[in-house]
Amino acid sequence: MRVNLGGVVPLSTVDWIGFSSTVVFLRGCPLRCPHCQNHELQDGESTVELYSLFSQIAGLVKGESTIKSALPEGACMPKRAISEQISLDDASERAASKPFVNSLVLSGGEPLMQLRSAAALLRLAKSLGLEAGLETSGYYPDRLAELLEKNIVDRVFLDIKARLKEPDYERATGAGDASRRARESLEICLRSGVPLEVRTTIFPEGPSAADVVEIAKTLSEMMSGSPGHRLEEMVLQQGRPASGSPAAAFEPVSFDSLEKMAAAIGGLVRVRIRAAPNLGETDNHQGTSCQDGRTGV
Ligand code: SF4
Repeated sequence: MRVNLGGVVPLSTVDWIGFSSTVVFLRGCPLRCPHCQNHELQDGESTVELYSLFSQIAGLVKGESTIKSALPEGACMPKRAISEQISLDDASERAASKPFVNSLVLSGGEPLMQLRSAAALLRLAKSLGLEAGLETSGYYPDRLAELLEKNIVDRVFLDIKARLKEPDYERATGAGDASRRARESLEICLRSGVPLEVRTTIFPEGPSAADVVEIAKTLSEMMSGSPGHRLEEMVLQQGRPASGSPAAAFEPVSFDSLEKMAAAIGGLVRVRIRAAPNLGETDNHQGTSCQDGRTGV
């Protein structure tokens, strides 16, 4: 069996806060978000044997392979991930205290476009004793439900890109039925009780502060209908221009504006802000502050 692979980031500390993750990017996405950070992974083909990828991931996790050898021919290092590597000092420190990697995150593109490969990689993660995370746009609710039923996903990172209604969602994703699908995926996650992080990326043209509050209200209402849910937080991400993207450059929404949005959400849902490295990170419950450069899926 072959997998259409976009690339592998051997070690990321920002895809899953608090974890050291190997991130596997699967190529292909049914959506066309105007500011896609990984537009080079939306289509194209660079397939590799799944079992060859398995052995490379296992080697990475055990510290036996290098970054270079982890990238099969034809696959690329997704641009958004390059700035997310930990520093050499940090790496040395972590290397001294095994395990070096404690989780595997599937990303894309949209990883659920390749359901069998996604399931096999998540199973591999579990067999290696890793936590398994899934970053998804929510475009394939049935496939998401299938993976959750198999009990091979430890955390879902779900993008909610706009108010869950049209025309907002179509504008944000380029797909007419994406809002219905995203809502269904959200419901499935809440009902299943899987630990869940909802991510909303803020660009100058939207979602606006009022939109963000409406998204939070929707989350809050849906949470009330699923008492066993484990929606842990909503992350407001500062959207930044994607390098090499056809979309025009723009000035990102400021950290202050994101903080005002978080304040407007109030107690509806726990919120964390992610912004550029020189702007920091904070949340609306604990006032913690750290740094990363994470942007959208
Ligand atoms: S869902 Fe993610 S990978 Fe797909 S087009 Fe949107 S931002 Fe890009």
